[in-house]
Amino acid sequence: MKVTYDYDLIVIGAGSGGVRAARLAAAKGKRVAVIEGRALGGTCVNVGCVPKKLFVYAAQFSQLFAQSRGYGWQLGEPGFDWPTLRDNKTAEIERLNGIYLRLLETSGAEVVRGWASVAAPHQVRVALCTGGERLLSGATILLATGGEPFIPALPGAELAVSSNEMFYLDQLPERAVVVGGGYIAVEFAGILNGLGVATTLIYRGPRLLKAFDAELAERLAAELRDSGIELHLNSDVVAIHGQQGRPQSVELASGSRLASDLVLYATGRRAATAGLGLENTGVVLRENGSVVVDERFATAEPSIYAIGDLIDRLQLTPVAIREAVALVDHLYGDGSAVLSYADIPTAIFSQPEIATVGPSEEQARQQFAELDVYVTEFKPMLATLAGVGGKIVMKLLVDASCDRVVAAHMLGEHAAETIQGLAIAIKAGASKSHFDATVGIHPSAAEEWVTLRQVSRRYRGGQLQG
Ligand code: NDP
Repeated sequence: MKVTYDYDLIVIGAGSGGVRAARLAAAKGKRVAVIEGRALGGTCVNVGCVPKKLFVYAAQFSQLFAQSRGYGWQLGEPGFDWPTLRDNKTAEIERLNGIYLRLLETSGAEVVRGWASVAAPHQVRVALCTGGERLLSGATILLATGGEPFIPALPGAELAVSSNEMFYLDQLPERAVVVGGGYIAVEFAGILNGLGVATTLIYRGPRLLKAFDAELAERLAAELRDSGIELHLNSDVVAIHGQQGRPQSVELASGSRLASDLVLYATGRRAATAGLGLENTGVVLRENGSVVVDERFATAEPSIYAIGDLIDRLQLTPVAIREAVALVDHLYGDGSAVLSYADIPTAIFSQPEIATVGPSEEQARQQFAELDVYVTEFKPMLATLAGVGGKIVMKLLVDASCDRVVAAHMLGEHAAETIQGLAIAIKAGASKSHFDATVGIHPSAAEEWVTLRQVSRRYRGGQLQG
């Protein structure tokens, strides 16, 4: 006897991955329910990429105001009003929440507002936001609940905030401590500093952004210091002290204390599986809580799939979206969609930005028997009259055995916009001679990519040549 279910697909979580999967499946005529207890759009729309980028724009004005003087502008002392930024940002996010709702509804998917828990391999219980409960059955269940900020246990941890709270602060602090050395830590350190907050960044290791190209990461650290951020490397926070729910200082392992009215922990994100009822299924989790899936995003429970931050491959919105596309193709298409995790470009919206595609120099020298490195460093044209602003660094890595460009890294203004274009060239297998044959756009910073003629470093068999 054929079992019938209420839905072909029940998607738990209306973030970037879940929404895309729901819309694509509905467009194929599938009966789809999407369950979400929070605002639609997930981390990226609500407490991630989108509001963060708006805050980065806000923070950049302080340097632009300073730079404008060299161009003849005379401004009074600029003032900044945090509630205006916060509330304008929130209004924009609410507009996007509405767009997400319309996109889902017009696709034919049903949006169920509530908190889902998997009751059995084909059954989902929803605690409805309006009260009460619904029990839904589905042929397939997709877990797309994303991640949550992780704050390590330490005395006073309850006084710290995560990136989630940063978007809704009552007021901006005068002094802030940011803990961590990854994407969120450097991005928020730049935002706070740009908005006029005395900012200290504390990282336990010797180098920020340890997964990124060392030369750029080190240069970024110098730029952050030049911009006024106090940077403590090789430094551990052992306690946060405060009163009435508000922090006053952080204590370092060295014994010193730093006064601070806000302590932001940006120490990674963990898969959001709490309350999801996975104990009622055969779904297997890794030690860090993320869901184990195969190349088709199937969990160990045959009816249940997972994508996005929950599976902890690359915690990036465009990756979750591509995983959704590939999954829907596997489930309801011809299964030919392949997602390659190689050469995925990414950017850190620090000030200045870093953007990158392909392996770092440290990784590439191990991967390629013959590696040529081209590096250029120069003052952007804007800074010439402005007198303020750091240098741009660009780096191309070339597999010298076949002349193929394998990576491009950039630090400086518009790095993300530039690297996105280069990522296409690298994905297409462009050679260094293709770069050399391309005519530059003048005057631009990007033209440097096609005028790199001098090899800066050569590695043969992983060894730096003299
Ligand atoms: P990251 O993984 O980038 O960085 C986490 C940082 O916290 C690391 O420096 C890590 O140090 C440190 N850390 C971890 N545990 C501890 C601890 N117990 N005590 C002190 N420090 C600790 O995570 P983020 O939180 O910055 O961001 C999460 C993810 O979100 C990113 O990995 C990225 O995928 C995504 N993201 C993407 C953005 C973008 O595309 N622009 C922007 C923001 C986030 P160590 O390296 O020593 O382990």
